[in-house]
Amino acid sequence: MSDKPDLRSLTEGDLLDFCARHSQPKFRAAQILDWLYAKRASAIPEMSNLPRSLRDALSSDFTLQLPSVARAQGSADTTRKFLVKLRDDQLVETVLIPASVGLYGDRSERHTLCVSTQVGCAYGCKFCASGLDGFRRNLTSDEIVGEMILAEREGGQKINNLVFMGMGEPLANYANLLRAIRILNAPWGLGLGARKITISTSGLAPQIRQLANEDLQVRLAISLHGARDEVRDRIMPVNRKYPLAELVAACEEYQNIRGRLITFEYILLDGVNNDLREAPPLADLARRCHAKINLIPFNEVPETGFKRPTDEQCLKFRDELGRLGVTATLRMEKGHDIDAACGQLRLREMREAD
Ligand code: SAH
Ligand code: SF4
Repeated sequence: MSDKPDLRSLTEGDLLDFCARHSQPKFRAAQILDWLYAKRASAIPEMSNLPRSLRDALSSDFTLQLPSVARAQGSADTTRKFLVKLRDDQLVETVLIPASVGLYGDRSERHTLCVSTQVGCAYGCKFCASGLDGFRRNLTSDEIVGEMILAEREGGQKINNLVFMGMGEPLANYANLLRAIRILNAPWGLGLGARKITISTSGLAPQIRQLANEDLQVRLAISLHGARDEVRDRIMPVNRKYPLAELVAACEEYQNIRGRLITFEYILLDGVNNDLREAPPLADLARRCHAKINLIPFNEVPETGFKRPTDEQCLKFRDELGRLGVTATLRMEKGHDIDAACGQLRLREMREAD
């Protein structure tokens, strides 16, 4: 694996600095960006309108290499899951959910991409396939950007909604995540509106506060899954580090500074968090944080031992929240047929390889 950074990890500012150091006019930076994000060049020598000396200088300092698709599942009008191979052969998942699947139950033209930010995950939530084999490494910013470029190429359409809900804890890879978001969002980059980007976190309170103070209009989703410490402690080890009081305080601060609606993700796990007595404390937290609640029936991962409640139980839980006066949507996950929950495809691939 080359230890040179990839050209797609650079911002416009970095490229302007590079051009200045090599006595090149400023417009060269715009030309390079055009090759990278408009023309989607796959190699530096392709950049035919750059002087040879500049191409050589770029090649001696940087690589340009997209991740590749090791396996794809699903067809063009269904959820498609890509097992993505990184430079060092590590595997992550990227999931493309076209508008026709109607993830949001509406007729929006949302083509959503779910991207990974780490190989594996160190947070070890008990229900999640991504953490089962521990943490390997962070993705670099160009690998995160690369997931989107790859998915647009494979899917043959523009992605206009991006969620950081794949493998890994995005806020534990903060610097690379933010750099990737700036590139995804920039007009010189992939031009995806910040409001079309959602970061999901298991609850890293200090980073939530840090994010509140960034100049970025991204959306925030909190993987809550329990409204009392007793429940959350059982399924999410991160709760011992940042218990609910601390997490909720960080969410309130985020809400105060940014004034944006937060989403609470709440997986329904049978016999763990779906008792109707869990609804009032959940409704209280949602009110305090001005959060809407997204209920997700657990997508079963056999290794975890947890079970998905019946559809009827899920509906009852949703209705109870409605009765308590908070907004809750029940998202019946699409794409179970292809192991859509994060980490499941990679896990299967790794088990098969054993
Ligand atoms: N680490 C981040 C983002 C990746 S997980 C986080 O935890 O938020 C993205 C979402 O998928 C989280 O809400 C996570 O709790 C949920 N998830 C994990 N395993 C799941 C499963 N088997 N079924 C349904 N949702 C799952
Ligand atoms: Fe990591 Fe998120 Fe899975 Fe928890 S739910 S193990 S934080 S990827």
